[in-house]
Amino acid sequence: MDLKHIKCKEHDWQSCAMFCLTCDISVCTTCISKIHNGHGLVEINEGYNIKMEKLKNEHKKAKEKIDELTKRKREMSHVDIASSRQYKDLIEKIEAQNAKIKNAADKYTEEIKRDVSKKLSDLQKEEFSKVDNVIDNLHTLSLNAGAVIHSHNFTQVLTEYETLSQAINLAETGLGTISFHFQQRYLRIS
Ligand SMILES: [Zn+2]
Ligand SMILES: [Zn+2]
Repeated sequence: MDLKHIKCKEHDWQSCAMFCLTCDISVCTTCISKIHNGHGLVEINEGYNIKMEKLKNEHKKAKEKIDELTKRKREMSHVDIASSRQYKDLIEKIEAQNAKIKNAADKYTEEIKRDVSKKLSDLQKEEFSKVDNVIDNLHTLSLNAGAVIHSHNFTQVLTEYETLSQAINLAETGLGTISFHFQQRYLRIS
């Protein structure tokens, strides 16, 4: 290779005289006086040798890197994903999350069940109290009717008959709808 006749990139009528290690470039005398004065200047062939050594070094490193990566890739391909620490950790986390969700769902279901049970029990009490009122009312009217029966007063018999008959009718329709209401309200809860 002819190192004596490298043309300067800036001044193409001049040949390069030196190599600037600071700027990594071959320079002519004009370049040196204008820009590279005080830079690390060496003979062109010395610069060439330095650069060539560096290139060889990098070339060697590149080969080593290729070998290293190829080896690592081969090792990686032998790793069983399912038995790797990373996979196991992830699965553990997923299962913990699953347990959390299940617990929350169970807790919620228990709450709903308790709530339904309480509401049904309240409704039952309410219906019992209604039935008790009807019984009390009929009991009172029945006592009255007993007295009227013995009085043989025709007007009172007629009045008492009307009152008692109406109360019985009301009790029949009223009590008949109790279980119906009960069911309706239960279904609304669920
Ligand atoms: Zn130049
Ligand atoms: Zn320079």
